[in-house]
Amino acid sequence: MLLKTFSLEIVNNHCMPGAMSVNGIARLNQDVGCALPYVNAVLGAIEYIKDPPTATFRTQGRLISVRSDQITVNAVQDREQAEKIIKWIRREINDAWQNRETITPRYKGVDRPQVVEILKHLPRTNCRECRQPTCMVFALRLAEGAKGSDDCPHLDGESKAALDEYLNGFDLDN
Ligand code: SF4
Repeated sequence: MLLKTFSLEIVNNHCMPGAMSVNGIARLNQDVGCALPYVNAVLGAIEYIKDPPTATFRTQGRLISVRSDQITVNAVQDREQAEKIIKWIRREINDAWQNRETITPRYKGVDRPQVVEILKHLPRTNCRECRQPTCMVFALRLAEGAKGSDDCPHLDGESKAALDEYLNGFDLDN
């Protein structure tokens, strides 16, 4: 097992003093930098920095950033939830490291659609029928893979086909 123990600190979000969520920072007692290219290959980081090794993952609307000696997770309700997420990523790190001989390490993040390119195909009326406040926010959700082109009822056939063709060039499941 590469990562055995950590100490967890819970910090308030200073940018949003009234926020209902907090951030968790786990200081790692073992160095996990060597495992990050393997974890990246398995989980698909949205951003990967080679030196110093840092991988940022997005899952369930929150960001998890892992570097050699620290894991941070944002937008958690409390310590219990932060600990659960840190333990999950610890499992992923240890599994990837244990199976590294069968994994091709990856040193870059997953390619994502560009929001500006998606916006070109949307009606841009901000009508909210997709339950998003603006077409821009809808485009962000599309880029994350959280929404699909079917969720905008105002896309005409040509625009929808062009948008789908653009989105199909990316692996949004990663
Ligand atoms: S339903 Fe379509 S046009 Fe309306 S806000 Fe959403 S993306 Fe924009």
